[in-house]
Amino acid sequence: MKILVTGGTGYIGSHTVVDLLDNGFEVVTIDNFSNCHGEQVLERIEKITGTKVKNYQVDLTDLDKTRVVFAENPDIVGIIHFAAHIYVNDSVLHPTKYYTNNLNSLVNILDCMAEYDVKNLIFSSSCSVYGNCDALPVLESTPLGKAESPYARTKQMGEEIIEDYTVSNKSANAILLRYFNPAGAHASSIIGEAPLVKNTHLVPVIAETAIGERDHMMVHGTDYDTRDGSCVRDYIHVMDIANAHTKAIQYLLSDKKQGGAEVFNIGIGDGVSVLEAINAFEKHTGIKLNYKLGPKRDGDAAAIYADNTKAKTTLGWTPKRGIDEIMADAWAWEQVLHATDSLKPLS
Ligand code: UDP
Repeated sequence: MKILVTGGTGYIGSHTVVDLLDNGFEVVTIDNFSNCHGEQVLERIEKITGTKVKNYQVDLTDLDKTRVVFAENPDIVGIIHFAAHIYVNDSVLHPTKYYTNNLNSLVNILDCMAEYDVKNLIFSSSCSVYGNCDALPVLESTPLGKAESPYARTKQMGEEIIEDYTVSNKSANAILLRYFNPAGAHASSIIGEAPLVKNTHLVPVIAETAIGERDHMMVHGTDYDTRDGSCVRDYIHVMDIANAHTKAIQYLLSDKKQGGAEVFNIGIGDGVSVLEAINAFEKHTGIKLNYKLGPKRDGDAAAIYADNTKAKTTLGWTPKRGIDEIMADAWAWEQVLHATDSLKPLS
């Protein structure tokens, strides 16, 4: 069964493509390589799986070019839509870039689903849709708070657009996966997070500091109302997130769910503070990190972690790896990145 993965050579996308292929799915991807070394990622996916994936290097905001992919692949049974701009802080600086790209690409995908009669959609949403929550862990039923950033708002709006779409398109079947904080890499260290821009996510920043790519790192905020004053997040291994997509697509294809849009939290179910994450890395590697305590970063929520019961019980998904494996795989991947000039960020 053929699945279209948009953003399939990005970080979560590439790991999901591997998990889908490992589970017997056929995959075609759309990725414009705007934030990844796409050709290399495709080669690396082939190295792991033995399968050469066909990618369309198409910008999803171009409806005509997106249509061509659907016309050439009439056997697509489901879509996993990852492609989006993803950096919270960047979105605060460049909000229209986020609205233009993240919303137009989604609308074009939905229009193509209707035109080419594709029923099943999995949408990459984010725990950032919850905003700053008082009650933790968050459940899927927790009311959404004010979005703390334009990025988060594009995810809130994306969810609403899909809900509206499934009201008017009765046969459409959608799953909205609210990811918490993806981190780590494939155990082979053949793929991992390798964006074209300098990474700002915590785990790669830790690894880059340890390997000497950065002289030091900052802890963004130390006076949050959390157990040690630093922000608390739910770090979930990227291969566990990847497998959630496989489980979700199997669920959509099993006819257990008939129409509408259903939300699932995809997190480990536990909160880890920035300082605890640093400690976990130092403990695993024996490397002392040069970090400084700094001011808060715009757009950050204080604390958020998931109640993942619904994904476990309904999708039969179980995250298998904790913060120690995340740090081990992230560190192994960082060493590959460091040694491979062609995978370095361009800016
Ligand atoms: N963070 C930090 N220093 C860094 C990068 C991130 O203290 O160099 C903090 C950030 O403020 C947030 C947490 O780590 O509280 C996770 O940030 P990340 O960018 O990885 O993910 P986000 O939750 O923003 O999507």
